[in-house]
Amino acid sequence: MKIVPRIKQQPERLIDENGLRVDGRRVDELRKMKMEVGVLKQADGSAYLEQGKTKVFVAVYGPRELHPRHLALPDRALLRCTYRMASFSVEERKSPAPSRREIELSKVIRQALEPAVFLERFPKTAIDVFIEIIQADGGTRCASITAASLALADAGIPMSDLVAAVAVGKVDGHIVLDINDIEDKYGQGDMPVALMPRKKQITLLQLDGKWTPEEFRQGLELAIRGCEQIYAMQKTALRKRYLEVREEVLREGE
Ligand code: UDP
Repeated sequence: MKIVPRIKQQPERLIDENGLRVDGRRVDELRKMKMEVGVLKQADGSAYLEQGKTKVFVAVYGPRELHPRHLALPDRALLRCTYRMASFSVEERKSPAPSRREIELSKVIRQALEPAVFLERFPKTAIDVFIEIIQADGGTRCASITAASLALADAGIPMSDLVAAVAVGKVDGHIVLDINDIEDKYGQGDMPVALMPRKKQITLLQLDGKWTPEEFRQGLELAIRGCEQIYAMQKTALRKRYLEVREEVLREGE
């Protein structure tokens, strides 16, 4: 049996003569997205999100009693985020032990969500957000933030706004929206951005690679427009869930 390597090869170019990307998208186009809310029975709130081939589940528990107790904050809830990648989610098996990258991303995601949550309403408690990457094809931190804010809303946790996130990248000299794994690997830079769209408040901005001030401006504008499109999809997913719950309650009352 011939063993064929499954590792993605570097393509000759990332943008063709028609201005289309490796997966056929235009430079300002998001990947196809699917969002579902209330997908896990055990959790207080949950969400499932697909962004192209990236797939993520989020479960939220809380506000609940905090263990160990000494971590409790007297004036607000402690928001805890755990970002984990399944061993089978990437091309080269990921070790199940928590990696430095997972620990860092858990913190980055928490910091992107914190400004939206009214933590001061639940002193001494914990709100736990568990993020499981089932399949990774780039942009997992942003997909996690988008899905986590849906799961928090599903758990009924008061928030001033949802948080929507997307990464833009510099690819073959073009600024492109919502980069996938191959664009992330072989492009010249990426910039993940999270936004509270109603308040126009940026809660995450990272930058990798060399960007001129003009490229940065263009990238940020593209990311904000992308977040606004994602925000509209988040609201639709939440509305759909609430209509389902309403139907269930009405049926039970019959
Ligand atoms: N990746 C991988 N193995 C790993 C970590 C990451 O193959 O152990 C891939 C995965 O597709 C991920 C991408 O590299 O989405 C980019 O990872 P990065 O650290 O830039 O974070 P992300 O873009 O997912 O937020």
